[in-house]
This record gives sequence, structure tokens and C-alpha cells, in this order.
Amino acid sequence: MNRFHKAKVNKARCEVTNKIRYRDTHEATHALTVARHMRAEHEARGITSSRRESRPYECEHCDGVHLTSNEDRIEDRTLPVAS
Ligand SMILES: [Zn+2]
Repeated sequence: MNRFHKAKVNKARCEVTNKIRYRDTHEATHALTVARHMRAEHEARGITSSRRESRPYECEHCDGVHLTSNEDRIEDRTLPVAS
């Protein structure tokens, strides 16, 4: 599970997705919480942000964790409808 020793820099970026790479889901969730608080603060002041990170997911390319956003249709798989 914990094979992140290759990366020394904490805020590394994924070469494939160019997203910030988090060490694990815990770190990503924390970043997500911070981002939500910041957005809530901005919206309270009338500033709307288009950044909408939604949830962490494990990247198959870099073994890190990224955050999904509106632009990334990571959950685009269509489930078969049960008849
Ligand atoms: Zn990645």
C-alpha cells in the first residue's frame, strides 16, 4: 500500500493527469475539506468559484491520489440498467 517513497516532494504533480498528487486519500480528503471551506468563504463574500473538486480517487498512473472535479468525468461509466 505505502509505496510512495519515490516522490520526495509532497506537492508533486501527476505526469499523466497534471493534477496535484496527494500521498493518500486522507491527505486528499483534508485538501478537499480546506478547499470547501475556502469556497464557502468566497461565496459568502459573493465570489463564486468554478473549481469544484468533489472527491478523492486513486490514480492508476502514479499510485497517488487526485481529486475529481466537474471537468473530469472519472465516473463516466454507465451502469447497465436492470430490467
Ligand atoms: Zn496520477
